[in-house]
Order: sequence, then C-alpha cells, then structure tokens
Amino acid sequence: MKKILITGGAGFLGSHLCDRFIEENYKVIAIDNLSTGSVKNIEHLNKKSNFEFYEHDVTKFIHVVGNLDYILHFASPASPIDYLKMPIQTMKVGSLGTLNCLGLAKEKKARILIASTSEVYGDPLVHPQTEEYWGNVNPIGPRGVYDEAKRFQEALTMAYRNYHQLETRIVRIFNTFGPRMRLNDGRVLPAFIGQALKGKPLTAFGDGNQTRSFTYVDDLIEGIFRLLHSEYANPVNIGNPQEVTINEFAQEILQLTRSSSSITYQTLPIDDPKQRKPDISLAKKLLDWQPQFSRAQGLKITIESFKPELIPKK
Ligand code: UDP
Repeated sequence: MKKILITGGAGFLGSHLCDRFIEENYKVIAIDNLSTGSVKNIEHLNKKSNFEFYEHDVTKFIHVVGNLDYILHFASPASPIDYLKMPIQTMKVGSLGTLNCLGLAKEKKARILIASTSEVYGDPLVHPQTEEYWGNVNPIGPRGVYDEAKRFQEALTMAYRNYHQLETRIVRIFNTFGPRMRLNDGRVLPAFIGQALKGKPLTAFGDGNQTRSFTYVDDLIEGIFRLLHSEYANPVNIGNPQEVTINEFAQEILQLTRSSSSITYQTLPIDDPKQRKPDISLAKKLLDWQPQFSRAQGLKITIESFKPELIPKK
C-alpha cells in the first residue's frame, strides 16, 4: 500500500484529495492546523483503517513515522478574506511550511506535489495565461502575501529539485468550487449562492465586468492525480477555460437557484485581477486531461450541497 501525506487535509481541496487517495487504496495521513479547515470535512473517513488525521501546523517541524511515498502540500489560507485576516500565517505556510514539506520529502525520498495558484500571474497582462507567463504581481499590495508566498514556494521547490534531485510537481490551480467550500469564505461563488438562497442582494464588486474561469472540484482532483503520477516537474495549469464575467455569473446563480434577488455593486478590492482564464494546452498534451463538468453541472451539485446549511429543516 502506497503512503501519502496530505497537508491541509481537512480543507476544501485537501479533504477531496483524501477521499480520492483513500478510494485508490493509499494509506492517507492528513494534517491540518484547522485555521480554515474543519474536521467535519473528513469525519466520514475516520472509520477507514487506511486514514489518519493529526492536528498540526506545518510551519513547525513535521514528523512522520516510517516510510512515505508521496506528499501533497495543500495547507494555506486560500480565499482573499482569509489571507487578509492571516497575512503572516499565509506567508509562513508558503515559506516555512513548504520548506518543512520539502525537507520531509528529501528525508523520506518521497515525491512531492505543491499546490500553487493562478495568483502567481497576478493581474495578468497575457490572456489566457500560459505557464510561460511570469505574471504581474504587486508584492506590497494586500494580495501580495498570498501571491508572493506561492511564488516563493515554486522557486523553493525548483531549488530542491535542481540541488537535491527531489521528485517535485507543481500544480497551478485556477478558481475551483464544489461541496465543502465554506459559505462564509468570502469568495464569489459561496457568497452569491448564499445570498441568492436567502433572498438577499448579490454583492458584485466593481462593475462586475472582471472575469474568472471556474473549475468543478472533481475535475481538479483528477488533474492533480494525473500530474502526481506524471514525469513532468515544471508548473502545470489545471483549470476550466470557460470564462465568465462576474455579472454573467450572478445571472447564472440567480437562474439556477430560482432566486429573485437583485444585484448590488460594491467597491472593487485592491489589485483584483481583471481577467483570468487558463491555457490548458500543456495539461491536455501531458496528462490527457480536460474538464468533464460544465460550470452549470458543477453548480447544481454545489447549490444542493449548500442547501441544508442555508435552509434549515422545520
Ligand atoms: N467578488 C464579487 N462579490 C463577492 C466576492 C467576490 O463580485 O461577494 C468578485 C471579486 O472581486 C473577484 C471575483 O469575484 O473579481 C472572484 O473573487 P473570489 O474572491 O472568489 O476569487 P479570486 O479573486 O481569488 O479569483
């Protein structure tokens, strides 16, 4: 049985990764400091004999008994309001946390995959974003704590690869959604769904003409699974290239939730990227991967998953 360590294992993406690797019959060790993750996301795995969870902060030394085949480093606050609330922790988990994970991978001769992000492209001047693009990040703006931590993480990972010949993989994740996102994490998708189902106005930021491209979580997990088992060490974009403006997205949510809420406009956050869409030619070629879920299919599943929390039973 292959053994895998998943940091951020109680988070949104981490918990879906735990599910996938348990299903594939790996021995899964999840660690999480529960700053944004929740044990609720993994409680269904407690009865599995091949699953273990430890509450631990990866910015502190990580000790794992015995061998380890793989590490997935997914610990980090990841929504703008979370990393604005925890700027130093965000920088520490991307730097010290990554250092600890890479050191552990070296010690155990394990292959490590690092969760990077489309935020390394900042407010992109190249559209759609290819992996060759170096990005347009403001290091001292409010988003800089996340963007620069992730850029540092990529550089550190490549240094370990080049200097220690470590087996490394880097996935650049674009906006992903699905069940287990926190309704109050401040991101547009849970915000709009929550507002629509409660009959409150949808809060679009700026003029709503900025774009994003939303990936359903199962597609992302499949891409990560394939990348981990591939032989490619440079960063790979995983995301759904179906691009949409925030205004169009608001209309789509209203329609799918059958809500008659209005849309209100609020100030655009500083350095909010104006457009974002992945070029996924590399993932197609290398991994034979492309999204299988349309945005509407993913949204229907996600809306249903939020309903019990939003519409309590009488
Ligand atoms: N956004 C919005 N209303 C909200 C939350 C976010 O219009 O209540 C906008 C935000 O300004 C951004 C887009 O939606 O342009 C996506 O924001 P999110 O925080 O989900 O992700 P990110 O900016 O990291 O892509």
